[in-house]
Parts: sequence; structure tokens; C-alpha cells
Amino acid sequence: MNAPLANYIGGKLIDSPSLDRLPVLNPSTGRVISEMPVSKSDAVDEAVAAARKAQVSWGRRPAIQRANLLRAISARIRERGEPIARLISEEQGKLLGLAKVEVAFAADYLDYMAEWARRIEGEIIESDRPGENIFLFRKPVGVVGAILPWNFPFFLIVRKLGPALVTGNSIVIKPSEETPLNAAAFVQLLDGLDIPEGLINFVYGTGACVGEAICAHPHVDLISFTGSAATGSRIMATAARNITKVNLELGGKAPAIVLKDADLDKAAKAVAASRCLNSGQVCNAAERVYVERPVAEDFAARVTAEMKRMRVGDPLGASEIDMGPMINRSGVEKVDELVRSALDSGATVTTGGKGRSDEGTYYEPTVLTGCRQDMDVMRKEIFGPVLPIMSVDSLEEAIDLANDTEYGLTSSIYTESLSAALKASRELGFGETYINRENFEAMQGFHAGNRKSGIGGADGKHGLYEYTSTHVVYMQT
Ligand code: NAD
Repeated sequence: MNAPLANYIGGKLIDSPSLDRLPVLNPSTGRVISEMPVSKSDAVDEAVAAARKAQVSWGRRPAIQRANLLRAISARIRERGEPIARLISEEQGKLLGLAKVEVAFAADYLDYMAEWARRIEGEIIESDRPGENIFLFRKPVGVVGAILPWNFPFFLIVRKLGPALVTGNSIVIKPSEETPLNAAAFVQLLDGLDIPEGLINFVYGTGACVGEAICAHPHVDLISFTGSAATGSRIMATAARNITKVNLELGGKAPAIVLKDADLDKAAKAVAASRCLNSGQVCNAAERVYVERPVAEDFAARVTAEMKRMRVGDPLGASEIDMGPMINRSGVEKVDELVRSALDSGATVTTGGKGRSDEGTYYEPTVLTGCRQDMDVMRKEIFGPVLPIMSVDSLEEAIDLANDTEYGLTSSIYTESLSAALKASRELGFGETYINRENFEAMQGFHAGNRKSGIGGADGKHGLYEYTSTHVVYMQT
């Protein structure tokens, strides 16, 4: 069993033996691997006060000095990443190979954000008045409250911390209840680095208490949240009390459009791999397929064969596998409910269709054909290894159906026709479109969703500037 966790506030680990503890489970075995303190709102108050104090001098440092800290952390991640990857696999259930990619990507991401130090730019704007200069400064927002999900828990720490720190903010981070251990490992990496006390803080606890306390805090200046749309909506309501700025990266219902001229083999492999990546628990994985009727049967057969080939098991077990467990029992139950309801409404299962939550929480790679737009499985986020397929008669119909959703994060299209790809790019109402491939996004892009998929975004220049505020100065000479 791993050592119990302690909050990290004001540069110190705070042991609070009187707090209740929540078990941390290994989703592939169901065994308890650690305990997480269930902090109260006073821990958030302390962390925000420490962060507020630290931010003042941090924000005044040259950005290049702030970037040096990101580089020091990325170097530590590279030196000590291997056990962290194992920990992510153990508490979250992702394949060890994918966990290693997550850790390596986190180090690269910090280096990338550090490079922005010399590129953060203000503006000089032409004035209407004689002799006047108008300067637009970019400044830190202040204290960032970062609330994390469990699916890429380690990467999401740096996706928020990197841009926050390089632009001069301090940060209070709340990891997910499901995956707190990698956050504790991140804190260990900081040991001995020259970090102002209170610049980086971690508070463990529930969303209802610690998450709410961060969102309601009058001295938190930006809430940077990644998680479900339902929680995003609650966070906005809480943030509204103090008119606190929010940056929300929420769920998706990514459509994959497969046209009759597509390379079907490539499409089937990409869609199946995306659907089983991290057991289907990726916000931009293909969640529904619209395939042109003449190739629908062929595509479904190919994708079914790909899904049947997936070997499912314990990511840290002896045998080689392609997919691990789902995060928890309620994830399995939600997926199973969507599958049952689709079957009751006339869909056909060509492979899979069953889950289990005894010693570990697993769901079989599943393909559903004969789906219709009115089925829940085509409308709600599945967040599991289940692929519903619907046949369509044209690109126009596919685009209309793809856009008929309350989400708007990512989308994809498979075609050899440039004009079809460009038409889809123009008309799909999503923050991202992948042509002839599925996820992932690039750190220099901009990951942002429309509608209930969020507000604002992450990555690249536009993601960086989410962590700044503007200050316009009028100088009369
Ligand atoms: P979740 O919304 O259940 O929880 C996310 C975090 O919010 C947790 O730390 C939780 O404790 C906290 N929380 C819960 N209630 C809260 C409240 N009232 N106030 C403040 N905080 C609260 O999401 P999850 O199950 O951890 O993650 C899965 C979801 O995340 C999926 O919908 C997925 O699509 C989405 N996601 C989106 C992206 C993206 O970039 N858009 C990336 C990863 C995951």
C-alpha cells in the first residue's frame, strides 16, 4: 500500500490525521492501494492565502526566470518519470505504455510553455488624441484554482500549471478523488527546487467540498476546470457568486464521418484504436460513427474485427494487453445502461456488449450497428469502449447529424476528397476536426469546445493567454 497523502500548502506537506480518508482503488483489481485525506474548506482558505502571497513577487519576476522553474520541473519528470507512469497505471488503469507517453508529454509540455517566456506580448494601439500613447499590457490574473479529472491526471496538472506559472500566476490544484497518487508524486518532484512558498499548492478532497470552496473563494481569480459538463455547469454557478473567470474543458460526443471514398482499413483501425484508448475514457475519442450506406457493412465488419482483436486485462499484469479497466463501477454501469437501451431500441451488437465490476471494473470493446440519432447512445457521452454506428446517405446528412448535439469538442472525417474534407471543416460546429485520423491534439494547437463542451480552451498561444488579463494604459505626452 502506498503512503497516505498529505496536502501541500505554503511549500509544506501538511499532515492532518484528524481528517476522514477516502480509499484509492486500483480499478483493475478493486484493491485499496492508498487513502486520500478528505480536506475541509479551511485547507482551501490556507492554500489560497499562501498562493495569493506568493503571486505578488512571482508576478514581478521576469518571465524567463519563471520559465526556468518549468524547465527544472520537466527535467525532474524526465529523471523520475518511470515510477510515476506505473503509479498512473495502477490508480487509473491505463496501459503502462500510454502512461509513459502521458508523463513524457507532460515534460515536453512544460518545456513548450517555458518557451513562451520571451514571446508574451502586449500591444501599442494608435490613439485618436494628439500626443497620446495607448499601451495594452498582459498581466497575470492572480491565483488560479485548478480542478482536475482522472483520465489524464498527471498531464492535466502541467496543462494548467505550465501556462499559469509562466504568465506569473500562482496555483491551487485539486486532483480527482479517483487519482490523487500521481499528484503526490508530482509534489515529491518539487522537493529541493527553488520554488517560492505557496506558489504551487495541492489540496485533496471531494468536489462537493474542496472543489466548491475553490470555486466560491473570493481570492481565486480564474477557475481552470477539466471534467464533465454537469460539473462545469455547477462550477459556473458557484463562480458566478464572485463573477470569477472560468476556463472550462468539458465532455464531448465526437462524431466520426466515414465517406464511401475513404480508405476503410485506415478508418476502421483509427476509429477502433481511438474508441479503446484509455478504455474509451478520452474526451476527444470517436463517440459515434456516420458512415455512407454503400460502405456501411464493410466498415462495420472491419471495425468489429479490430475491436475483437483487442486484448483486455490488467495493465500491470503479466500478459500483453491493448485495453485496461474502466475507472470505476459507476462508469461500467453507465456504459452498460447505454448499451442495453440501444439494444432495446433496435440496435445490433456485433461484438462485446458486457461489463463486469467484481474484481476490477471492465467493459468489453463493443460495436453497435443499426443505431439511430434518437438513441441515448448517439446523444450522451459514453466515455467507454462502445462504438455506435449509423448509416447515412450523403456528406450533407452526416454533417447535419454530427452537428445535432449539445456538445462541440472534436470531430473527424475519413475521405480522399479534398473538397469533402474542406466542406466538413467549414460546416462542422466543433472546436477541432481531425481529417483521416483520430485524437490526439497538439500542444501548439488550441483545444477548445463549443456549446456544452466548454468555455475558453487550452494549449498554444490562445491557451496561454487564457491565464492573463489585459491592462490598458493611456499616456498623454
Ligand atoms: P467530473 O466532472 O466528475 O470531476 C472532475 C473534477 O471536478 C473532480 O476533481 C471532482 O472532484 C470535481 N468536482 C465535482 N463536483 C464539483 C463541484 N460541485 N465543484 C467543483 N468541483 C467539483 O469529471 P471526471 O469524471 O473526473 O472526468 C471525466 C469527464 O471529463 C468527461 O466528461 C470528459 O469528457 C471530461 N474531460 C474533458 C477534457 C477536455 O479537455 N475537454 C479532458 C479530459 C476529460
